Amino acid sequence: MKGPRFSLCVYCGSRAGQRATYLEAAREVGREIGRRGWQLVYGGGNVGLMGAMADAALEHGARVVGVIPRPLFAREVAHLSLHEQLVVDTMHQRKQAMAERADAFLALPGGIGTLEELYEVWTWRHLGYHDLPIGLLNADGFYDGLLAFMQHTVAEGFLSASQLECLRSSQDTVWLLDELQALSGRAGAAEDLRRI
Ligand code: AMP
Repeated sequence: MKGPRFSLCVYCGSRAGQRATYLEAAREVGREIGRRGWQLVYGGGNVGLMGAMADAALEHGARVVGVIPRPLFAREVAHLSLHEQLVVDTMHQRKQAMAERADAFLALPGGIGTLEELYEVWTWRHLGYHDLPIGLLNADGFYDGLLAFMQHTVAEGFLSASQLECLRSSQDTVWLLDELQALSGRAGAAEDLRRI
């Protein structure tokens, strides 16, 4: 639950990707969350970047909460050493439960699951369901192509520059986590998300 600890909801790959730098970035995020005494909320898996980040967070003293749909839990990809592992019935419940526990959101490299989660929470912000900060960790330039495409989307008139600015992107984990905390405001956020 949201509480005295700052709670960061992280979306990231269920695979490790091709470059060691992606795994290093996931571990650094976990380590930083622990070092800061924060809570990590994530998809609850023990695989890929998700598992690496969660292990690093646990090793460094973070409180770690997973939210996983029952079918994935049954497939034995759930992390079994978390402080809390919430098993839900649907993907929609999962995303809402994750968001309700968040003071800020962060996406790391990942595939369609990560992109879907990022775009949903970004859309919710655009529609005014919450005003929590959203970060994109552009580890090793992984998201350069996506950021260029989003600039194109602004240039072509389908997205406002301010909507794009809502997404804070950086290759620097420490800077980005500082930025997300500085931008966050806890008041009212969970209530807003319950209305979705
Ligand atoms: P992807 O980027 O396609 O690998 O999907 C990763 C995102 O989708 C994560 O942030 C999770 O919330 C969710 N997800 C996908 N696969 C799994 C899995 N095996 N275990 C737990 N969550 C998963």
